[in-house]
Amino acid sequence: MTHEQPAGLPDKIRHFIDGAFVDSVGGEEFDVLDPVTNENYIRASAGQQADIDLAVAAAKRAFDEGPWPRMLPRERSRVLHRVADIVESRDAQLAELESFDSGLPITQAKGQARRAAENFRFFADLIVAQHDDTFKVPGRQVNYVNRKPIGVAGLITPWNTPFMLESWKLGPALATGNTVVLKPAEFTPLSASLWAEIFREAGVPDGVFNLVNGLGEEAGDALVKHPDVPLISFTGESSTGSLIFGNAAPFLKGLSMELGGKSPAVVFADADLDAALDATVFGVFSLNGERCTAGSRILVQRDIYDEFVERYAERAKNVVVGLPSDPATEVGALVHPEHYAKVMSYVEIGKGEGRLVAGGGRPEGFPTGNYVAPTVFADVSPDARIFQEEIFGPVVAITPFDTDEEALALANNTKYGLAAYIWTSNLKRAHNFAQSVEAGMVWLNSNNVRDLRTPFGGVKASGLGHEGGYRSIDFYTDQQAVHITLNEAHSPRFGASK
Ligand code: NAD
Repeated sequence: MTHEQPAGLPDKIRHFIDGAFVDSVGGEEFDVLDPVTNENYIRASAGQQADIDLAVAAAKRAFDEGPWPRMLPRERSRVLHRVADIVESRDAQLAELESFDSGLPITQAKGQARRAAENFRFFADLIVAQHDDTFKVPGRQVNYVNRKPIGVAGLITPWNTPFMLESWKLGPALATGNTVVLKPAEFTPLSASLWAEIFREAGVPDGVFNLVNGLGEEAGDALVKHPDVPLISFTGESSTGSLIFGNAAPFLKGLSMELGGKSPAVVFADADLDAALDATVFGVFSLNGERCTAGSRILVQRDIYDEFVERYAERAKNVVVGLPSDPATEVGALVHPEHYAKVMSYVEIGKGEGRLVAGGGRPEGFPTGNYVAPTVFADVSPDARIFQEEIFGPVVAITPFDTDEEALALANNTKYGLAAYIWTSNLKRAHNFAQSVEAGMVWLNSNNVRDLRTPFGGVKASGLGHEGGYRSIDFYTDQQAVHITLNEAHSPRFGASK
């Protein structure tokens, strides 16, 4: 199989503002690299303050004067279902472009395109079924909630599953009647630019969806600090989240933060070992390990520890590394040489902190590109950096434990709290563990399978606020309380005594 550019690439990746593809006002651009060759394959416009100003002004005009926030939910829902139809009908092309831009294996990129469509369908349905509270105080008052879109939503997204994560924010932000400015990750701007055509075809009015490409510290920062953007939904690293939190503070913006993770997968001796192996291998090596909810720390009960480590290492050695475009590939190329250097630095750190049982560097036969062999370290102590820090690549740390208490202490022993995976056939243990583990999401005897109605988000350094289902609707709307008095107002009569 050879590595070729996909058909249908634009000549350049531009911003999309008020219904038109445009260059940066000052003409600034940046290079976008192909993760397999690390060569620049396309240029993208690099948004600055002036470009963000134009995008926000267009979005504000569309919000203040345009039809979108005023449409019936049913009308907006129809448009969003058309978005989902178009995404589904272009599934193969979207996946091909996404895989080329990000280095994700093509089969996994296809799944992400389908999930993007599903996100739109879900929020299109939810907004039609949405109902709000009314409260009766018998004989005195009726009070109701008047839910309203907020305005211009700033959406800032990472590069790991770009198209799907963008859909996760675009779906609810648009369904609720807001207008948006999206700032996608600079490593992977290609698939974001496809939204513009999709929305136009589906009938989203001009100015409702605006896209500004560029670097985080330029375009992203200008969006966070723009006074006409009252809410920011951010997904990315915890350190970036904390910086954005500070930058948004003077404006008292609404913030939703989906941040990093170092999630434990806890395997007890009474677990279905075959199922646990399948899930824990997939859980860290799928999406090239560039997955926020990766089970990147595996805690294994001592009775089965040696057998687990041996079988796990065997499986990791057999994981198929290859070209992202090859359907047989299980792990592709990491997104960018900077990220590759970071992951490789952790592989070297790990050699001094744990027992290397698989991988440990470049896979054979891949002299160039951002390829990392699936890497497994056993006997990793909880104070090791590879136990504590998010690596965000195909690297896993395995640690033994004896008792339930020890497993829980180990599971909770990082600053993160995104997901946890528990493998046991003991019902009481599973639920007790789930209730005590510091994680926003827990899967019992399961891989990461999402139900779109459930809350999504992390605790501790993994996030602030929850999205998912009605929680996303809550984030993107104001709930105004309207009070109606049914009889006389009964106001104390100040100033009426003379
Ligand atoms: P990142 O924080 O480097 O960048 C994320 C986005 O923020 C990019 O668009 C970037 O340009 C922008 N940005 C950077 N600095 C900024 C600033 N000062 N102001 C405004 N915007 C700025 O993260 P990344 O490397 O792209 O993504 C990987 C991280 O994302 C990992 O930590 C991963 O766990 C996390 N992630 C979390 C979830 C979740 O749902 N919790 C999902 C996916 C990824």
